[in-house]
Amino acid sequence: MAYSYQELLEKNRRYLWNPFTQMKEYLQDEPLIIERGEGVKLIDVLGNEYYDGNASVWLNPHGHNRRELNEAIIEQLGKIAHSTLLGMANVPSILLAERLVQLAPENLDKVFFSDSGAEAVEIGLKMAFLYWKHRGRPEKQIFLSMKNAYHGDTVGAVSVGGMDLFHASFDKLLFQTEKVSYPYPYRFPGTKEECKEACLRELRERLEEKGDRIAGLIVEPMVQGAGGMIMMPEGYLAEVEKLCRRHDVLLLVDEVATGFGRTGKMFACEHEGVQPDIMMVGKKLTGGYLPVAATLTSDEVYDAFYGDHEEVKTFFHGHSYTGNQLGCAVAIANLDLYEKERLVEYVAETSRLLADWLSEIGQLPHVGEVRQLGFMVGIELVRDKRTKEPYSWADKIGVRVCRRARELGLITRPLDHVITLMPPLAATPEDLKAMVRILHRAIREVTES
Ligand SMILES: *Cc1c(COP(=O)(O)O)cnc(C)c1O
Repeated sequence: MAYSYQELLEKNRRYLWNPFTQMKEYLQDEPLIIERGEGVKLIDVLGNEYYDGNASVWLNPHGHNRRELNEAIIEQLGKIAHSTLLGMANVPSILLAERLVQLAPENLDKVFFSDSGAEAVEIGLKMAFLYWKHRGRPEKQIFLSMKNAYHGDTVGAVSVGGMDLFHASFDKLLFQTEKVSYPYPYRFPGTKEECKEACLRELRERLEEKGDRIAGLIVEPMVQGAGGMIMMPEGYLAEVEKLCRRHDVLLLVDEVATGFGRTGKMFACEHEGVQPDIMMVGKKLTGGYLPVAATLTSDEVYDAFYGDHEEVKTFFHGHSYTGNQLGCAVAIANLDLYEKERLVEYVAETSRLLADWLSEIGQLPHVGEVRQLGFMVGIELVRDKRTKEPYSWADKIGVRVCRRARELGLITRPLDHVITLMPPLAATPEDLKAMVRILHRAIREVTES
């Protein structure tokens, strides 16, 4: 080790600004500095080991330091690290595009690469916007999105976002969108079915009123992730698709969090047999190794841009590293591993065991609801279980529980008062059980003290 923890900490303080981090709080605490990873564990520079309970913010499926993935990068590195995709192509990007189209819902035929989920979302929005223009309906230019949604942090992605805590302060910077409610049965005064109907009514009315001017609807399928792991009632997403079709509105699904097996299906859309017009993927695409994301779309959308030079229908969008060979090569190796290890089936089967163990957490006096789909878990903490009175931001309840969990050997991040568990998909039943045990103890100790 070239530098001591103290030296690194000092350099962190002097030079590095961490994302989504209040630096004052962070620097006053004992900052965690990771040195390496082995399987589902992260190991810090002091040699402490932790379960990676949120898969390094939702993107690691197979665990860290997987030989097959390391080798794929090394092999590609022996050929070339990067060449541009603008006006030319490269081998791994072509092969990865084919793989993605084979895996994705049938309606999706073409792949446009980028480097992050937020960019994949921006690209999807621009595609939908120009699709209508090229089709001779330029009046369709508004986007419909969900309250409490999270689609990434670039300005376009924030415009279709709806989390006040992250987004409200940027208000003046954003383009206008229409927003409707995402079903949140736990906080709806009525049954789950009534919640679903109320949300569908709201959507139907908005589409009847403004559908002519709406280009597309963007939604997180089945689970609103960063908004608090909020889960759609059965049948809702299929109805959303029908309403979009009826009103000639493109359906954009953001599978950045839910994609690649997180919910027990390869893509969350499959739970309801939904065929989106545009789908964004990012997290887990490269096995958590390198920043590659993708926007998939139909031939119908692609063809609207296809034309002669003079028509100027070229999609003028791209990034320096679009289609990066190292990233695409490791993504292919990642998808090979999914197949070889039947990882999605494993998540679907093992999530039942996980549900059993989580049910004990649900019994705790300050746990309002445990929400789970596959290996995607949110635990909503409440001050009063009977009245569902929430904790306030100032209580820092989520931060305190996750801080305690870290002392007990598990890393995860709270979404305000919702504790998340998003383990690597390859976590064994023993790993999962140990993670749940730590969370149980951390929640009990912090909420009962
Ligand atoms: C994380 C996330 C994004 C943003 O992806 P980045 O790679 O962080 O830009 C977009 N949508 C959803 C649903 C996400 O969870």
